[in-house]
Order: sequence, then structure tokens, then C-alpha cells
Amino acid sequence: MTQELPIRIGHGYDLHRLTEGRKLILGGVEIPFHLGLLGHSDADCLTHALADAIFGAMALPDIGHYFPDTEEINKNIDSRLILKRALLEAENNGYQVGNIDLTVIAEEPKLSPHIDEIKASLSQTISIQSNRIGLKVTTNEKIGAVGRLEGIAAFAVCTLVLKKT
Ligand code: MG
Repeated sequence: MTQELPIRIGHGYDLHRLTEGRKLILGGVEIPFHLGLLGHSDADCLTHALADAIFGAMALPDIGHYFPDTEEINKNIDSRLILKRALLEAENNGYQVGNIDLTVIAEEPKLSPHIDEIKASLSQTISIQSNRIGLKVTTNEKIGAVGRLEGIAAFAVCTLVLKKT
């Protein structure tokens, strides 16, 4: 890293299709629901959006570069490992996570009862206090693919702070 900015900001977005016969995992938490997210990994779109925000803050390639869906070894991988890889890249470049702000868009199931658990899970994975994690859940007002329950989407913004040496 040539430029040692004191703070870097990153943004991430992800969407996965809802389907039968899969688990619904968001932020590393399994949410009870009759549909789950389809993907090569565990398809945790919230964790993917966050990992991409961290990679983006570092101006690094996206998660598909580090975890190609063509590789068998990444099949059904726990997305927290993807997030940890993003954190490692940040760490190796001298940065740590400042705060993160997340939005999940899901028509169903109702996610508000799971906010604290998801925040606790991410807090543990990232090793930051949960008061540095914002998490909003909203619906798509029955509009579009997400509104028709075809998928769940997530947005993430994070800051990375240069570690003091
Ligand atoms: Mg994804």
C-alpha cells in the first residue's frame, strides 16, 4: 500500500436467490425459515457484502477473486472464513475495522428479532465491539425480485482505520 490514508471507506453489496432446501444464514446466524439462500458458499449475503466492503476499502479485488465459485474447496464454505480473509488483508496492510453499517433487505422472514444475535455474531467474527456495528433490516415493500421473495440483498459500509505503529 503506497498511500497510508488514516481512514479508508468501503462499500459492498450482495444478493442471493431464495430457494427451498437451503439454510438461511445471515451474518453467520442461521435464521429459521422455510427457504434459504442459494450459492456456492453458505450464501450469507450479509457477510459477503461486508467482506466486499472491506476489500473495497483496501482497493483490493472482490470476494470472487479470493474465493472463486469454480473451486470445489469453496463449496458450502462458512462465509465467516471469507470475512476473516478480508480482515487479514486489511490487517496485513496496517488497517483495522473502525465501524460498520449494514442494511439487509428481506421481504420475509421478519429479521428484527434477530438483530442482536447477528450483531453479536459479527462482533465476534470481526473482534470489534457491537456498538461499532449498525444493522438495519427492511423490506422491499413487495416491489421487485426481493419483494417477491426471490432473494435477499444486503448493503455494507465500513471504515478501516490505520493502526498506530
Ligand atoms: Mg455472495
